[in-house]
Amino acid sequence: MMLNSKIPAGPLQEKWSDHKFNLKLVNPANRRKFDIIVVGTGLAGASAAATLGELGYNVKVFCYQDSPRRAHSIAAQGGINAAKNYQNDGDSVFRLFYDAIKGGDYRAREANVYRLAEISLNIIDQCVAQGVPFAREYGGLLSNRSFGGTQVSRTFYARGQTGQQLLLGAYGALNRQIRKGRVSMYPRTEMLDLVVADGKARGIVTRNLVSGKIESHTAHAVLLCTGGYTNAFYLSTNAVGSNVTAAWRAHKKGAMFANPCFTQIHPTCIPVSGHYQSKLTLMSESLRNDARMWVPKVAMPNLKGKEAVRIPEGDRDYFLERKYPSFGNLVPRDVASRSAKNVCDEGRGVGVTGLAVFLDFSDALNRDGKSVIEAKYSNLFELYHHITGDNPYEVPMMTFPAAHYAMGGLWVDYNLMTSVPGLYALGEANFSDHGANRLGASALMQGLADGYFVIPNTVGDYLATIGWNDKLGLDHPAFQESVNAVSGRLNQFLAIKGTKTVDEFHRALGLTLWDYCGMSRSEEGLQSAKTKLQEIKADFWENLNVTGGVDELNQELEKAGRVADFIELGELMVDDALHRRESCGVHFREEFQTPEGEALRNDSEYSYVAAWEYAGMGKPEILHKERLIFENIQLQQRSYK
Ligand SMILES: Cc1cc2nc3c(=O)[nH]c(=O)nc-3n(C[C@H](O)[C@H](O)[C@H](O)COP(=O)(O)OP(=O)(O)OC[C@H]3O[C@@H](n4cnc5c(N)ncnc54)[C@H](O)[C@@H]3O)c2cc1C
Repeated sequence: MMLNSKIPAGPLQEKWSDHKFNLKLVNPANRRKFDIIVVGTGLAGASAAATLGELGYNVKVFCYQDSPRRAHSIAAQGGINAAKNYQNDGDSVFRLFYDAIKGGDYRAREANVYRLAEISLNIIDQCVAQGVPFAREYGGLLSNRSFGGTQVSRTFYARGQTGQQLLLGAYGALNRQIRKGRVSMYPRTEMLDLVVADGKARGIVTRNLVSGKIESHTAHAVLLCTGGYTNAFYLSTNAVGSNVTAAWRAHKKGAMFANPCFTQIHPTCIPVSGHYQSKLTLMSESLRNDARMWVPKVAMPNLKGKEAVRIPEGDRDYFLERKYPSFGNLVPRDVASRSAKNVCDEGRGVGVTGLAVFLDFSDALNRDGKSVIEAKYSNLFELYHHITGDNPYEVPMMTFPAAHYAMGGLWVDYNLMTSVPGLYALGEANFSDHGANRLGASALMQGLADGYFVIPNTVGDYLATIGWNDKLGLDHPAFQESVNAVSGRLNQFLAIKGTKTVDEFHRALGLTLWDYCGMSRSEEGLQSAKTKLQEIKADFWENLNVTGGVDELNQELEKAGRVADFIELGELMVDDALHRRESCGVHFREEFQTPEGEALRNDSEYSYVAAWEYAGMGKPEILHKERLIFENIQLQQRSYK
């Protein structure tokens, strides 16, 4: 299979506008002859579905939650980037582009990232027009704050609820199209297979999560907006339901999976407190605008927040400010996470487990006063207080890195089309814009860029090329084959009748990935993870116990399918991490580091996107390389000092 990224020729600044002009259009009167399936109603899916409905296409939208507005995007806290330069602090489209390429440790495509920076300007206008209540300055202008890896303030926010407010905007637009009859909504419906015939995506097979009914849906194009796969780690900051199933089933039908080992660990999450936990809670990166991270200079086992306030300044190590004086507490996430891990590995971690560092607001509270801090972060402070019992206005928060975001995902070309014609991937489900490390507040930007601005242009080109007659009826054998495969697999889970719950396998998988394919990776560790994952997989198919039946609401059955896919994905993550014999961004191979302990890239051998092709059950996946070409930015050793 050949990879063609379809990056347009010409100067960087003109690529997207030239490309849009060269794409074919579908005449407004003909749009109603085309059917488009959108799977997912997070920011990427809701914005795409609303916009395509508005354009006049027939759109069917699916999500597994009971309402589209419960998509995981609702949890996003800190903000969304845009190069508006409202602060007059030197920002520009090129600077956002530069920061993101550098932040991703030079493992993303220039053309995609530049387009994202350009579109960032439109997103804010679109959202303001929808009534999204962004924070404002006293004079009425939209307010900004900073996120990691930048030296400007370009992050727009709605307190700590930015994702919620943006999603309500997109959900409103989606509902308008549902009411107008352009969009049909299928909540509590899970896509379990992609139907491919004659080499094109033709539709999907779904299960109604309430009745268990299996159904087929046909369309001219299918858009996967199904989010990221970080829940492979079991404990993560993602919503508990987030999963890889739609993307993984598409992968098995021919869509290549890119850079699966690029998974982001967020530095500031509430630390793990016990075995019973099923998820972790993020403390937004926005807090690092005002909070300072520190640990004691010498080990002080079991140090709590209440005692920390009495520790003199001279005995504290503000390790990020010490190591990275220019960016300080706002270094990118990979850098901050590794630094937090290092001080804990040295025995200087705090709290009962020693796996935590302080995130301290005392300076900001003394400087700006409680009311200013409250206005910016009150809901995050309340969240922390409710979960830990500690009041962050009085004692420092304790945080530790946790699995958070997937930069890897389905490989897509510049049009967001996967390697299966007619199948697109948007938002966190694709790999496209963040390279080996995403900068904070750029996921919301990417999801909305993909949904509101990119796909409405690019999908039309495909539809105009194939024509409206190129759609299969549900009586086509490809649909029946897919339905049989889906039903067979569900019954297979029920038939095992072993002794272990799905969660036991998920936890074992997550621990293995965290220990060997998480913040730090080595040849030896990854090899042992490979063996462990094979054991977990064999055990799963022998000893899984799923109670209940197939024709009813059965959450254990839903989870079984998702965890089976996570295990296979986990194997690919490990293979990807093993093959990339360099460090870059989040992918920190212990064997490849600078004398200061930073990631050491190997540009001559690994400056490519690793796109994996499924080769069949039990066979090793085939690696394809999309070489990354840098014409506008010079590759350098990343430095935040
Ligand atoms: C706690 C937290 C805070 C964050 N804060 C920020 C922030 O401040 N700024 C920022 O830029 N980013 C942030 N992020 C990242 C950002 O929230 C996500 O990357 C982004 O919201 C993903 O949007 P999405 O539309 O791609 O997917 P999601 O919002 O994950 O939506 C996925 C959709 O797909 C559906 N779906 C999935 N699989 C199936 C299936 N098989 N069948 C049917 N439907 C399916 C789901 O039902 C859902 O509707 C944060 C992430 C977390 C975890």
